Amino acid sequence: MTEEIEKRMTELVGILNEYAYRYYVLDDPAVADNVYDKLYDELLSLERETGERMPDSPTGRVGGEPVKAFGSHEHANRLYSLDKCQSFDELRAWDAKIKKVAPEAEYTLEYKLDGLTLVVTYENGLFVGASTRGNGITGEDVTAQARTIMSVPVSIPFKGRAEAKGECIMRRSAFKKYNETAAEPLKNPRNAAAGAIRNLDPKVTASRKLDLIFYDVNYISTDEIKSQADGIKWLKNNKFRVENPIITSDIERIIAEIEDVERDKLDFDIDGMVIKVNDYSIRDRLGFTDKFPRWAMAYKFEAEETTTELKDIVWQVGRTGKLTPLAILEPVELCGATVRKATLNNYDDILRKKVKLGSTVFIRRSNDVIPEILSAVEGTGSGDVPVPTRCPACGSTLIRNGAHIFCPNTEGCRPQIVARLSHFVSKDCMDIDGLSDKTLALFFDKLGINEAHLLYDLKKEELLTLESFKEKKAANIIAAIDKSRRVKLSAFINALGIPNVGKKLAYDLAVIYGSVKSLSEASVEELSQIDDIGDVVANDICKYFASRGYFVEQLLSKGITFISDGVSDSAAADGVFSGQSVVLTGTLSSMTRSKASEEIIARGGKVLTSVTKETTLVVAGESAGGKLKKAQSAGIRIMDESEFLELLNA
Ligand code: NAD
Repeated sequence: MTEEIEKRMTELVGILNEYAYRYYVLDDPAVADNVYDKLYDELLSLERETGERMPDSPTGRVGGEPVKAFGSHEHANRLYSLDKCQSFDELRAWDAKIKKVAPEAEYTLEYKLDGLTLVVTYENGLFVGASTRGNGITGEDVTAQARTIMSVPVSIPFKGRAEAKGECIMRRSAFKKYNETAAEPLKNPRNAAAGAIRNLDPKVTASRKLDLIFYDVNYISTDEIKSQADGIKWLKNNKFRVENPIITSDIERIIAEIEDVERDKLDFDIDGMVIKVNDYSIRDRLGFTDKFPRWAMAYKFEAEETTTELKDIVWQVGRTGKLTPLAILEPVELCGATVRKATLNNYDDILRKKVKLGSTVFIRRSNDVIPEILSAVEGTGSGDVPVPTRCPACGSTLIRNGAHIFCPNTEGCRPQIVARLSHFVSKDCMDIDGLSDKTLALFFDKLGINEAHLLYDLKKEELLTLESFKEKKAANIIAAIDKSRRVKLSAFINALGIPNVGKKLAYDLAVIYGSVKSLSEASVEELSQIDDIGDVVANDICKYFASRGYFVEQLLSKGITFISDGVSDSAAADGVFSGQSVVLTGTLSSMTRSKASEEIIARGGKVLTSVTKETTLVVAGESAGGKLKKAQSAGIRIMDESEFLELLNA
């Protein structure tokens, strides 16, 4: 071994052990897993090359040493780590090795859940203890913490002694909800689960709403389990939560199944898939290395998370004038793409996540194109991110509203105007083809288009004065604008850009009000009775029509007509509610109020939000109040939910 290689190996062991300590003992990693894995693989290949392993090398041990503050638990059977591969060729090679020993071998294919191993012990049908993996031989006793997990059964039908093994996770939905309001946001669901289980206060564990998904029987006092499939069946019969494995002996089927996994659709993180030999007698023939069983293999997916350096924060001005911080990053590879930018929500988010200029930040791929920053590694970075005081686009003095910072220059701030126009022309709104943000910015700069209604006055000749506009392009745009005059009411309401009114709410409002006029006349009280609308949104809608009413009128004067989407006035159909003006009140158990409104309109009726002279029918659900009383005293026909459903099905 050369001196240089020895030096590098010593260095790697030191770094990896420090990272492992932060990860396994403190539950506060200093780098993302893919960064750790890369260094680990480098060490492993140097060890293979030289045939030497330092006594404290992480490649020879499982997990981290148990922490003394917890009691200890000796596992009935040693817990191992898993061998891993990242390509299908490696998987095929592993299959070939197995089949050489046992040509008849069958495999189970399971999710590789990304959490923390827990072993739960039962005696005489009762839950008696739980422990972490620790170093594989001794784990930490986390009985009190595991008791707070609702999916851990307190009693089971089996009356002997058994250890069930599974992965303790925090579901993505629970993680997201927790982080929305947490004073200290959590880095990722894995660390959230590990931190909660290894917290000495079980109340903290309970507050994280953890879950436990089981995949193995680590020990059982009988000999009834002879395969992985038997184990899963036993777990199910004893009321444990499991995910059903796929069983096959065909490695190509395994590969096809792995390719089909849709990680985004799961409510928990997985970092790969685990392939295990099903039959225990074949497992016995294959045995273990000092770190993992030879009869199992983890196929690891590409990382969804990584760490990199934050170089700068720039502020972007949106449609409503809200400033959003955009992080400029040291470029890094994530999921096959180079990431240069990441999002943060607002200034409070920067403070909560302790993000500083120069910080090492954890970024995670989300469904959006730009990944989000989850947190910063404490102690990294130097400069505090300054609070912006002037709009980066127009120089106006900014105002603060709660956690958000706004540019108040609604009428004159270029990015706000362009973003409003861009929203107006987008697919779910007026759906005008050919108008990119760049083109809209050009329209604003050169043609003074600062409000959407002005688009409808544009002449082809004006477009031809613009650089890069030729006859065909100009004609296409004019035609597209013209075509947009016929629009669904819901899309038109969405296009108005009312604060807090998105596509879904625009649809509900179109269903309930049936025309722009009725919507513009609705009161705050009336609006706040609609599902999903609270006082804030009701106020936003009323304020919008009070201040932007002229704009709506201008737009309507451009020859806008509403086409049927089943909700606008013009769509009135014949049916059982034909000629009826219906008010919905109380809670319906079979559908939401907007769905009920939709059904009434589709059958020729009109839906009103309050009981007036016009009302001919009131549908009263559970705990109906004032409107029901008013209808009773006015002698208006009232029907309950079952009668209403009968009519719908008539
Ligand atoms: P591992 O987590 O990759 O695999 C073994 C574990 O997989 C088991 O202990 C079990 O808990 C889990 N598992 C999930 N589903 C399973 C299933 N269906 N069947 C069997 N087991 C299942 O290996 P490891 O040895 O626990 O740890 C290595 C991991 O820890 C790597 O991902 C590494 O990146 C990470 N790590 C990260 C840092 C860091 O600083 N970020 C430091 C140390 C380790």
